[in-house]
Order: sequence, then structure tokens, then C-alpha cells
Amino acid sequence: MSPTEREWRGLRRLELTPTPTPLDRAERLSDHVGAEIWIKRDDVGAIGVAGNKIRKLEFLLAAALAEGADTLIIVGARQSNAARATAASAALLGLECHLVVDGDGVGAAEGNLLLDQLFGAVIHPSGVQDWAALERRARDLEEELARDGRHPFRMPVGCSSPMGAVGFACAYEELLQQLDEEQVVAESIYHASTSGGTHAGLVLGRKMMQRGPRIHGIDVGDLYEDAAETIASLAREAGALIAVDHEFSVEAVEIESGHMGRCYGSITEQATAAIALTARLEGVVADPVYSGKALGALLEDATRGRIKGPVVFWHTGGTPACFAMPYQEALVAAAGAAESGPGEQPG
Ligand SMILES: *Cc1c(COP(=O)(O)O)cnc(C)c1O
Repeated sequence: MSPTEREWRGLRRLELTPTPTPLDRAERLSDHVGAEIWIKRDDVGAIGVAGNKIRKLEFLLAAALAEGADTLIIVGARQSNAARATAASAALLGLECHLVVDGDGVGAAEGNLLLDQLFGAVIHPSGVQDWAALERRARDLEEELARDGRHPFRMPVGCSSPMGAVGFACAYEELLQQLDEEQVVAESIYHASTSGGTHAGLVLGRKMMQRGPRIHGIDVGDLYEDAAETIASLAREAGALIAVDHEFSVEAVEIESGHMGRCYGSITEQATAAIALTARLEGVVADPVYSGKALGALLEDATRGRIKGPVVFWHTGGTPACFAMPYQEALVAAAGAAESGPGEQPG
């Protein structure tokens, strides 16, 4: 299948997956925690096990193709959903894809790293851990590939450039249409945030539409010195691409920390319990690195009576990490705990 190119607010957009993604009312979960919860299913889609990165890639890759790119380069952690989504999209578009991953060797090909290989990506273990060093390796690789006559396009970390963020302004408009059709007035959206493109795009979308639910980001990466500031400027730069001239204030960015655990990728009991509960009540699977932590935050706020809803949980995907160690083990334990105490509430 070759994706259709469309236009959105004057920008090229590749249709990598059918939209709108489903918006489902989570009835049993809502009853359980005492707040009306809707789930925006960006974990559902037609390409590469889906997830939020697809929305950013629709705009980023349209721009890359317009520039004549034939090769993509992306850096990421081994369980990077951005890398996996990029690898899948590259396969669909017939582009070469290079992943610069952290640490030595490829090791066990589990979860996303297994999928990266299935999608035919060339994996470069970098031998380094920090982002700056990974970026340097990617720049060197870009020069090498260009010398070999290729036209490489280097992807932003987490696909979060202003162009990538535009994908979520577009997504906000999509959600508002669905909420209108359901005649639901939602108070807020909860979603997992790391590189900030999702959050910035949603904030921009809300500005553009001049109405709709507030955006409540749950920081699960602690990537930035000042996340709110980074997200505010990302929203402004993304806005400039679609003729929205607005200076976003730091106060306009609602980002909550305290749900990540020790560091990015840490296993938290709140997240694994929330994943197990939601799986059991709704047949929906969140992941332990991102979406499960945002879900844990939402369920905590609901059970403590801090939100009544309707509230939208934006399911950003990430499911493949469930099938990688050590998450697999933690989820088995959480499923066991949910079995022994079905009345238990997370938090
Ligand atoms: C990347 C990712 C996020 C965070 O999105 P950002 O735009 O990078 O902030 C959330 N959930 C999942 C599953 C992701 O892969």
C-alpha cells in the first residue's frame, strides 16, 4: 500500500493509518474508579503496532519525502517506540532506516527491538548511553551515508520537532469532533509525556480550536531541565508552521511529575497495577514505560475524587514494551496481584 498524501492547514500529511482512531467509553473502568473515562485509542492503527509517533511521522515523513530523502536515521533507547514506528514507516515507504541505539551489542531482541529488525532497520549499537553522545553518532552516520551518495534525513528525538508536533494539533481537532458527536464535554485529557511533541501539539490544537478539554501531561521521562518551557516553545514553533501566531506561556502547560519512578523506564507499582486493572476490566493494554504511568496518574486522581470526568485518557501506545524484560515479569506479578484482590484500587 502506498499512503495517500493529504493536506492539513497547508502542510503535507501522509496517511499512514486510518483516522479517526477510536474514542471508546471505558464503562467498567469508570464504574470502578467513580469517574467517567473515555479512551482515545492511538494504540490502534494500521502500521507498525501503532502509537502516538505515527501522528508525528505523518507530517515529518511527508516533509522528508518532499526533500528527496531516501534514508532515515533515528536515535533511541532499545525499547524506543519512536524508532520502531519510524522503522515500520520506512518499510512501508521503501526507505532505508538506521537506528542508533544506546549501549553495546544488540542483545536480546525483545519487544520493539525485535520489531525493528523485522521491519528491516539497520541497528547500530552506539556503545554510549547519553543523548548527546547518541546524537553525535547519528550525525557521523549521516555524513557517512551522504558520502555514499544517499539522501539521509535525521529524525528528531522522539519525533518531536515542531513539524512532528503539528500531528497532535491535528489530532486535537479530530478528538473534538468525536466528543461533539458523542455529545460529551470533557474536562481534561491525560497523556504520557517525554519529548514533548504530543503535549505541545495538543496545547496548540486547543488554542487553534479555542475550546475543548485541558491538557494534563504526565512526565515519564524527565528529559528536560524545564519541561513546561520546552513544551511552550515547541507549541509556538509548531503554530508558526500552520499560521497560528501565539506565544504560549509556561503557565499554560500543565505537566505533572511524580509518576515516573526512579528514572525513565523504571517499573512502578502504580503503573503495573493500573495496566492490570484496565486490561481486566476493558480488554485494553497500556504499557509500563509511558501510557501505563499516565493511566496510573489518572486512576489515582479519580479514586481520590480529584476528577469527576468526563476525562479522556489518550492512549499513546507502547504495547511492545510489555513483551520485553524486565517489564514482562513485572506485569505477570501485577496480573497475579489483581487476581487476588479484584476490589483493590490502584494508587
Ligand atoms: C513517545 C511516547 C510518549 C510521549 O510522547 P512525546 O511526544 O515524546 O512526549 C507517550 N507514550 C508512548 C507510548 C510513547 O511512545
